[in-house]
Amino acid sequence: MTKDAISLSRRRLLQGGSAIMAAGLAGAPALAKAPTIGTQAPYFYRFKLGNAEATIVSDGPLPLGDPTQAFLGLSKDEIARQLDSNFLPLQNAVLEQNALIVNTGSHLVLFDTGMGTAKDFGPTTGKLLNSMKQAGIDPKDIDAVVMSHAHIDHLGANVGDDGKSNFPNAQFYIQQSDLEYWTDEKLAGGPLKSFLAQAKKNLLPVRDRIVFIKDGQEFLPGITAIGAPGHTVGHTIFNIQSGGKSMAYIGDLTHHPVLLMEKPLTEFAYDTDPKQSAQTRVRLLNMLATSKTPIVAYHFAWPGFGHVAKQGDGFRYYPEPMNMAL
Ligand SMILES: [Zn+2]
Repeated sequence: MTKDAISLSRRRLLQGGSAIMAAGLAGAPALAKAPTIGTQAPYFYRFKLGNAEATIVSDGPLPLGDPTQAFLGLSKDEIARQLDSNFLPLQNAVLEQNALIVNTGSHLVLFDTGMGTAKDFGPTTGKLLNSMKQAGIDPKDIDAVVMSHAHIDHLGANVGDDGKSNFPNAQFYIQQSDLEYWTDEKLAGGPLKSFLAQAKKNLLPVRDRIVFIKDGQEFLPGITAIGAPGHTVGHTIFNIQSGGKSMAYIGDLTHHPVLLMEKPLTEFAYDTDPKQSAQTRVRLLNMLATSKTPIVAYHFAWPGFGHVAKQGDGFRYYPEPMNMAL
């Protein structure tokens, strides 16, 4: 473009701008012809793992509120620095809920079921069944519901408000210690009483279909439990293998792609044993970083699929580019 052409197009731009302003001032309709649409893409993401097909289905965003109340042991300034340098808001830590479904060829396995109808974290949760519908997956076809732990945001859609399971043909998998802890009436009067109520609602009606899993056990073909205690007593992450490929579903090993990663000994307010949780986090993130195993992280930014690598005293999360070609 010549200098003259540049100044000509600049003049046209300016003229166009004043025409738009004049139209706006006169109350004329906007120049854009199409209305805005206001809907979003379906809330699932699909990819291959060896011979298996993986689908991440969302239960919707879970806003935790003020990050200084949930992430403990860091100064307010340090929290602000970490969030600001990652272009994240300072006032509200919004987690995602990325449930994973794996079709292994022999089993259709769902990892965690979201908040269900509970609204303890506001109205944006509870989307799992709708996301599954968008993904073309019928809850009746789920063979196994695998729970990383018995917290409210990981088992909430096991059972509907009518007391019947949303997954009528599934077996349910969890560590025995977590079932016992979160259905124990000693929690009834405490601050986590709604966690107790949700665990009872979502575990007891399917009690006869629950299979207890143990650290190191390959309890379904290609799916191995890895004990990750601290966040809860029986918190578990999973190694998933197919056709020579593997990945890890890491549940709540870390809740935030920055705040529990840069300084992984930071403590999390919802941990049953925050010190043990932090040690477990460092040990298993080290393992995943060293082996370069891809991860699905339940609470990371959508869709929560990527890698962890060591960085400084901690870790950094690298999201995998989404591949929509499949
Ligand atoms: Zn969680």
